[in-house]
Amino acid sequence: AKERGKARYEVFVQEMHATVEQRWQIETALRQSLEAQQLAIAYQPVTQLSSGDMIGFEALCRWHHPQLGPVSPEIFIPIAEETGLIVALERWLLHQACAQMQHWQQQFPALPLAFMSVNISPVHVMHPTFVADIHQVLQATHLAPAALKLEVTESLMMHNPGVARERLQQVRAFGVQLSLDDFGTGYSSLSYLHQFPFNTLKIDQSFVHQLRATPHDTGIVRAIIAMAHSLNIQTIAEGIETADEAALLAQLGSHYGQGYYFARPGSADDMTRRLTAAAQR
Ligand code: C2E
Ligand code: CA
Ligand code: CA
Ligand code: CA
Repeated sequence: AKERGKARYEVFVQEMHATVEQRWQIETALRQSLEAQQLAIAYQPVTQLSSGDMIGFEALCRWHHPQLGPVSPEIFIPIAEETGLIVALERWLLHQACAQMQHWQQQFPALPLAFMSVNISPVHVMHPTFVADIHQVLQATHLAPAALKLEVTESLMMHNPGVARERLQQVRAFGVQLSLDDFGTGYSSLSYLHQFPFNTLKIDQSFVHQLRATPHDTGIVRAIIAMAHSLNIQTIAEGIETADEAALLAQLGSHYGQGYYFARPGSADDMTRRLTAAAQR
């Protein structure tokens, strides 16, 4: 058993070495890109299912490195979290996204543009500057606090629920909205909804994909939506790819939907074109 343990340890060290090297490369490149303002934001519309109106956006970080090419956020966000770069990255992204939303609300006063959603890592929430960062971005961009929605995942509440609750309550007190992202993929989701001040719950794509496979088996999604309603929490169904899915989610009572069926994530200019078209209708 001792020998096996040792062998496993050596394999682990080798793997870790390779990973550390790659990670270090990516970390260095990411730091440079952040400083050189080479990161970008893709915006994806959120649609009110009852009316078809574009009601908000989710801001998604994009990184196209000159040598590495486009790097998925599934790769660089975890590295940014491990190295602490995520705080500077999200501070930058919050400023861009909030300024953009404030601009769109001014430019399109007749459209029902309610919120800009920004993903916030648990590492950032736990960072000492988190509450000040949120306060500062609202001051600097003059965005109405209620028009900023912060998306957090269940993993935030798992490690230090006391501090998490305190921080979330502090930003809620500014008037900022909170969304529980990827709902249903983690654990004890129900208690989080009771204990934390969420306004919105995002039904994870996996449930929408499940509806795709078995459209008659609507039980879980129906239950999530009913539970959210009873707690006065609105729902956004993610990953909607077809008209049938949009109609089914609307029928099940989800307020909002998001997915390729409505729009793929795109540049600010793409969204301005969509908003211009919507304003002319
Ligand atoms: P997420 O927050 O769950 O974001 C939704 C993801 O689903 C996005 O992937 C989006 O492009 C994709 N998506 C949207 N509609 C559809 C659809 O109809 N079908 C399918 N198959 N996918 C769809 P993306 O942009 O690659 O982002 C992946 C993840 O990276 C995000 O998942 C989020 O967890 C993370 N992320 C992105 N930007 C940030 C950020 O600024 N901060 C943090 N902490 N995380 C971020
Ligand atoms: Ca999200
Ligand atoms: Ca999600
Ligand atoms: Ca996700």
